[in-house]
Amino acid sequence: MTTESQERQELRAAVSKFAATYGPKYMEKCHRDDEYPWELWREAGKLGFLGVNIPEEFGGGGAGMYELSLVAEELNAQGSGLLLMVVSPAICGNIINRFGTPEQRQQWLPGLGDGSKILVFGITEPDAGSNAHRITTTAKRDGSDWLLTGRKVFISGVDVADAVLLVARTEDAKTGSLKPALFIVPRDTPGFEYKPIDMALRLPEHQFSLYFDDMRLPAESLVGDPDAGLMQLFAGLNPERIMAAAGGVGSARYALDRAVDYAKTRTVFKVPIGAHQAISHPLAQIKIELELAKLMMQKAAVLYDEGDDFGSAEAANMAKYAAAEASVRAVDQAVQTLGGNGLTVEYDLGTQLANSRIMRIAPVSREMVLNYVANNTLGLPKSY
Ligand SMILES: Cc1cc2nc3c(=O)[nH]c(=O)nc-3n(C[C@H](O)[C@H](O)[C@H](O)COP(=O)(O)OP(=O)(O)OC[C@H]3O[C@@H](n4cnc5c(N)ncnc54)[C@H](O)[C@@H]3O)c2cc1C
Repeated sequence: MTTESQERQELRAAVSKFAATYGPKYMEKCHRDDEYPWELWREAGKLGFLGVNIPEEFGGGGAGMYELSLVAEELNAQGSGLLLMVVSPAICGNIINRFGTPEQRQQWLPGLGDGSKILVFGITEPDAGSNAHRITTTAKRDGSDWLLTGRKVFISGVDVADAVLLVARTEDAKTGSLKPALFIVPRDTPGFEYKPIDMALRLPEHQFSLYFDDMRLPAESLVGDPDAGLMQLFAGLNPERIMAAAGGVGSARYALDRAVDYAKTRTVFKVPIGAHQAISHPLAQIKIELELAKLMMQKAAVLYDEGDDFGSAEAANMAKYAAAEASVRAVDQAVQTLGGNGLTVEYDLGTQLANSRIMRIAPVSREMVLNYVANNTLGLPKSY
């Protein structure tokens, strides 16, 4: 039973069929070879899946975040998740589409849509963490150029990206206060340094620390209007959370499917283990939780696509929280269901343990979502 239009059902079925031709064996091989899953990325781009949300005039599908999150969910549900979908077409694609200059839209949107260009996103800093108001990466004018100085951490996919969409701060000429501004920084910019962080994860995307000191950028690196930095950031945050929720829902489905298949046939006493309620009830609970998370994700996507950024923010935060919890619980319970096999590489569930755990931390932590709901939805006072 589905409430989705015929068109969306067809997109879902097409992505699912495509993603199943890759799956955990392909991802594991890429991991062992330390190779980005280019084949999967490029084919998904060619088929139009990465660019479903990019406007048609730039070669995209002309749909919205509903469709893009649907693609991410189905890829993850087949064990073929691509974290860079969150940053490249979702965060950067939406920001550039809504706020970029005509030249920036022309330069980036076609490539972000067909996957031939990758933009990653850098906001997190070592001394700011969850408190984005505390970032100190600074951009100052030098003639018509900009000079950027700062440091970022945990930036995903820098090694495979063409450029980083970097969040910095500029000084307000009138008040002297710092306000956010976004810059497109090509990876080969002189003075742009990046070093991999040794992460305990099994992801195709690596994380990096970035360093730059008086890095010179031309005027046209600034995204859109220098006064629209905060609005640009907000335009990127909802897609980020909706896509994180899609990853969580998809990975919960992936783990649950594997656990259910196993529980139907594995018999160690008289009946298959799935007949024991100690096994079946937690799986049923996860099914309910992931369906609820998915519904909230779809609500957030519908509101975003209708242009309701404020309404979408609450739903996107709630969806992200619920999907992360569903994913962490699903993977843990799937490992439990498979017993020893749950921790073999062959069954690809133990390998998901750390990956699903990311979702409680990034792109926004569980606690910061709870703060958002406590303060904004419930009107409770802030502790910070
Ligand atoms: C795999 C991975 C990929 C990432 N990719 C990117 C990327 O591409 N680009 C990017 O910019 N960033 C990226 N990040 C960074 C990510 O967004 C941050 O890790 C996240 O926002 C949390 O910041 P932090 O790690 O500094 O934790 P901290 O802010 O130091 O928080 C530590 C703990 O304290 C809690 N805490 C902090 N303040 C409060 C409070 N007021 N109330 C209650 N609890 C609080 C947090 O919830 C958390 O549990 C990535 C991170 C990971 C792990």
